[in-house]
Amino acid sequence: MTKRLSALPVLGLAAVLAALAVPPAVTAARAPDPVPVPQPTPEDLARFHAFVRMFRTEAIAAGIKPATYDRAMSDITLNPKIEELNEKQPEFVRPVWEYLRTAVSEERVARGRELLSVNAALFQRLERTYGVPPEILAAIWGLETNFGRSTGAYNLFEALATLAFDGPRAAYGRRQLIAALKLVEIEGRDPRMLTSSWAGAFGETQFVATTFLDHAVDGDGDGKRDVWHSPADALASTAHYLQESHWQSGQWWGGEAALPANFPFEMADFDLKKPMRDWSALGVRMVDGNPLPQTDEPAAIFLPAGYRGPAFVLKANFDALLKYNFATAYALAVGLLADRFKGRDGVRGAWPVDEIPLDTTQRSQLQQGLIRLGFDAGGSDGVLGRRTRQAIRDYQKTRGLPADGFATASLLARILEDERPTEPALSPP
Ligand code: CA
Repeated sequence: MTKRLSALPVLGLAAVLAALAVPPAVTAARAPDPVPVPQPTPEDLARFHAFVRMFRTEAIAAGIKPATYDRAMSDITLNPKIEELNEKQPEFVRPVWEYLRTAVSEERVARGRELLSVNAALFQRLERTYGVPPEILAAIWGLETNFGRSTGAYNLFEALATLAFDGPRAAYGRRQLIAALKLVEIEGRDPRMLTSSWAGAFGETQFVATTFLDHAVDGDGDGKRDVWHSPADALASTAHYLQESHWQSGQWWGGEAALPANFPFEMADFDLKKPMRDWSALGVRMVDGNPLPQTDEPAAIFLPAGYRGPAFVLKANFDALLKYNFATAYALAVGLLADRFKGRDGVRGAWPVDEIPLDTTQRSQLQQGLIRLGFDAGGSDGVLGRRTRQAIRDYQKTRGLPADGFATASLLARILEDERPTEPALSPP
């Protein structure tokens, strides 16, 4: 039986951000602020501890034993660093090629290959049990925590209580807090020893508590699910989660494609599926020149940097990676890192490195401009979702531009120019 997935974050910090409607691009905060983190006021602390006392009633009503609650929650306090990270709005977006360069670094490729070799028996067993290839699991492990090197050093309950107390992730924090308390009881853990990222994701592959309760498994056979200290448990849990996200055994995620010059770019979208044979009929090939399979398998064409950048053909398993973390750049990084583990080449196509991604303000300006020109961008929240992408394509088509739906600085400049009232035409001489 497939378990109901939580509507909110599945795994990892990027998942948390993605689930909270941060645009499906890779966000990066500015360089760390040199000023010290402001300490909470006595009033804030009093309100926080009142919240902890109030939430005790809620937790007990949800079935948590009073003793569990008190053990987990009596020594925690409002964490100002977490508060600051929680309030920070990512204004700047890193270009996808810069994110991929870091995510699929040579060092990570080498370390992953080494760990795949050292743990070959474990990875093979997980593939037999869950149908997920070793390279995919290793790629997630590498991206989430750099193979267990950075799993987060906050106290899980302090992190979740700080998020639950107030701010944009309060509902998420409360739900995860109850789930984490359940985890403590089910697993017999000492809550004071459980560490997490500031966003409450924990262990070698950064599960959150609700996902742990639904999907974590014992991978090393000791009867416990310890995703903190047992890579086998964490990787088995990740494989189990992907299996339940409909990862198709024996299939890959996709790969780099070559598009014909006359390709209809309005069809390139990560969630627009067509049978593989239809893409083939349009002249799409793999980047090495091989034809696409003549099958009805659903696939999408994805242009992560618009029509000027590389193209990818995405198979159904890409969607399973998106269920792990709803950010297309993350899912692509998993796929490309897994490719490298298999000894395949990196991306061949050239990235349009002269394109600087729009920041939140510019994305909002772009949406407002489209709306004023009569294209339904669906709002001006700075999030480039499906409706905004469609509005961009519609605009591009009316102006004779490649309709890739990709927002660029030159597109924004053109839209702002289009908006200027036309000057009275000079009469011809
Ligand atoms: Ca175990």
